[in-house]
Amino acid sequence: MSIPRRNPRRGGTRRQSAGPPQVRQFRSSETGATARLILKEGREHSLQRRHPWVFSGAVAALDGDVAAGGTVAVLGSDGRFFAWAAYNPHSQIRARVWSFAQEEFPDDRWLRDRIARAIERRRPMISPEGTNALRLVHAESDGLPGLIADLYADTLVLQLSTAGADCRREAIVAALADLCGCARIVERSDADTRALEGLPERTGMLFGSMPPAEIEIREQGLRFVVDVVGGQKTGFYLDQRDNRARIKMHAAGREVLNCFSFTGAFSLACTAGGAKSVLSIDSSATALDLARRNASLNGMSASGLEWMQADAFQALRTLRDQARSFDLIVLDPPKFAPTAKHAPAAARGYKDINMSAMRLLRSGGLLATFSCSSGISEDLFHKIVAGAAADAGVSATLVDWFHAAPDHPSLLEFPEGTYLKGLLLRRE
Ligand code: SAH
Repeated sequence: MSIPRRNPRRGGTRRQSAGPPQVRQFRSSETGATARLILKEGREHSLQRRHPWVFSGAVAALDGDVAAGGTVAVLGSDGRFFAWAAYNPHSQIRARVWSFAQEEFPDDRWLRDRIARAIERRRPMISPEGTNALRLVHAESDGLPGLIADLYADTLVLQLSTAGADCRREAIVAALADLCGCARIVERSDADTRALEGLPERTGMLFGSMPPAEIEIREQGLRFVVDVVGGQKTGFYLDQRDNRARIKMHAAGREVLNCFSFTGAFSLACTAGGAKSVLSIDSSATALDLARRNASLNGMSASGLEWMQADAFQALRTLRDQARSFDLIVLDPPKFAPTAKHAPAAARGYKDINMSAMRLLRSGGLLATFSCSSGISEDLFHKIVAGAAADAGVSATLVDWFHAAPDHPSLLEFPEGTYLKGLLLRRE
């Protein structure tokens, strides 16, 4: 993958001289935004701290006309300017901030500059010989709510999950096509979160030629086939890239169990790291088919690799009944708690699988356990896992923490963006 070097400022941000404290009626040919969203008195705190969401309960009034996804000026009850935001009357998150600077109206040129900035920030993360797949734009954390762009070799996969991003599709595609030098852009706006925004699913080609039937990427020396059209998320879990590399370093000589294996990325990393054997479990037959193909693509013999289609919750119990044990276990389940509201049920799920895994771990064995639930904080996850160890009667040492790879950054003022967390434990 090569990202052409472009001047991120080309076209420039439309700068305006600083205005008076009251918002002025900005106009833009792209959005024609003149509507103002007025906050209730005392509900300005989160915007003051630059949190990018305005919840419906914080809104006193909408002054003017704006369609879903259109731009509004967010004002305090005293008329003070706080932000330019994308409005959505159908979502609990009534507005999502594009920009906190009054002089930075989010027109198409501004959008292009933000995308260019996100791509520039990734440039040091690219190593053409090692990895050619990475996330170029990570939504709120790149100042672009609802916009995810993952690059797989020369194919860009775009996911638009909010009304604001959805109605800027054309400008986003034009900017990405020009800035990232990809051959094609495929849309995968089929996340369930779109329903919460009142948006239908949308998939298909947005730019360039149809993707080849199979897209091959490289990740730290391994080859993977990615199904960008039908695979989960945008096709691959790029956020776990660095964690796979770290777990690989511990894999030599170990008997590994990889639960929720998807297309085998952790399994192959462990095999490459010298694991004695890897048993991979996933409920998806399609994912496991691709995992087997990925193994042979990397010349890994079938003998050390076992693939099992099963419900991991059940399979962990069955393995225990069979008196199986392992030296390294990876637990990377899907999101159990999309929001804090789902945390109690999710906590039971995490405790269940972690207890079962700890019982299968030999003394001195390692457990790499993850949660990608925004609704479960790092602290809570640590407590759940500690509770699981106590209930399993296992003494464990916390060896390391895991987070999402740096192409998935998170804003300090936006804790919801810190979704992936993990612990590496050693059973004593
Ligand atoms: N570790 C993977 C990503 C895992 S994504 C990687 O690095 O690529 C979560 C996976 O869990 C998906 O592949 C999904 O098919 C699988 N899954 C979901 N529920 C499951 C269940 N109850 N039992 C087993 N697998 C499940």
